[in-house]
Amino acid sequence: MQAPSPSPPFLPFARPDIGDAEINAVGAAMRSGWVTTGPKTKEFEQAFTDYLGGQGLQSVAVNSATAGLHLALEALGLGPGDEVIAPTLTFTATVEVVRYLGADPILVDVDPVTLNIDPVKIRAAITPRTKAIMPVHYGGLACDMDAILAIAQEHGLKVVEDAAHALPTTWCGTLVGQLQSDVTVFSFYANKTITTGEGGMAVTRDPALAQRMRVMRLHGMNRDAFDRFTSKTPAWYYEVVAPGFKYNMTDVAAAMGVEQLARLPQFVERRQHLAARYHEQLASLPLTLPAIAPPGDTHAWHLYVIRLKEGAAVTRDAVIQGLSDRGIGTSVHYVPLHRHPYWRDRYQLTPAMFPQADAAYQAMISIPLFTAMTDADQDRVIHALHEVLG
Ligand SMILES: *Cc1c(COP(=O)(O)O)cnc(C)c1O
Repeated sequence: MQAPSPSPPFLPFARPDIGDAEINAVGAAMRSGWVTTGPKTKEFEQAFTDYLGGQGLQSVAVNSATAGLHLALEALGLGPGDEVIAPTLTFTATVEVVRYLGADPILVDVDPVTLNIDPVKIRAAITPRTKAIMPVHYGGLACDMDAILAIAQEHGLKVVEDAAHALPTTWCGTLVGQLQSDVTVFSFYANKTITTGEGGMAVTRDPALAQRMRVMRLHGMNRDAFDRFTSKTPAWYYEVVAPGFKYNMTDVAAAMGVEQLARLPQFVERRQHLAARYHEQLASLPLTLPAIAPPGDTHAWHLYVIRLKEGAAVTRDAVIQGLSDRGIGTSVHYVPLHRHPYWRDRYQLTPAMFPQADAAYQAMISIPLFTAMTDADQDRVIHALHEVLG
């Protein structure tokens, strides 16, 4: 991806961890004669449900988390005039899907410690039009789901979790995906904790929602191609029951997903090891380190986001430059939505309306954290930060 550079080699901020198991499985899927949604996709959905603990859950594989979020809100019946509460500190995909349906996202501020949506701000944003809440488990740390689910119940609101960062994340010992929200959506984009290149999974315990999402992910047809191919009834017959989308996952992608999911326990361990080392080795620097999970809970550590403390001798941008000069890639998660022209102008948003997210944005850097990096790679990052900030 990056141009070759003199030693030391460029260390990207993220890189997928793909081995022979994935490559062989993809090859087998390609040779199988069934490359689109078929047996591998079903296998991946079942493996995903089993990973989350099975009972009562259904997993619907799609070609992105964005597609999954769209299907979730569509299945919940969201439409023009409806409002959905979401954090400003997220990727635009979380709320662009609200606009697909003609509804309006109501952006709110985050908690300054966790950088997750602030339940107090959710309460303050509820109007008679509010239909749903979309928590985002920022970086892989669970939102306060007890508070969010209580607010939802009190006001009769739906909850769709954007769990793009949260595989695996627990809240009070329960895996995200198993909580009492309506739909939880995971991402398998290239830099997420497991990847299928592009892909996502929508998980629900409501059979009607699962059924609607399955129909709408493939043109609103009541039978998919694999179903027709393998069924005893005439193969050519199907009915279109709605103007659906083209959001199905391919078997090529699902083959990769099955192998990545099998490696997830090792991936988690590696990410936790790296996060713990950063925590230890960066503690003396003028940085706010990312919040850790409560005792007994799992942080997925999709991201490791450091924040420069107020009054630090260097600027955030100078730190990014200093790391870049030393061959280290970084990112910023995120330019908050209230600063992007579309959201800012459409809803007349200003930074002053989101003081916590805005201050965090101005101070934050995502530093390299991926399973394929070595401890020596990480030592370079640590050393560089000590040089730049020391
Ligand atoms: C990656 C991401 C998405 C979108 O995932 P895709 O699979 O790329 O559609 C949505 N929300 C958040 C918070 C993300 O990080």
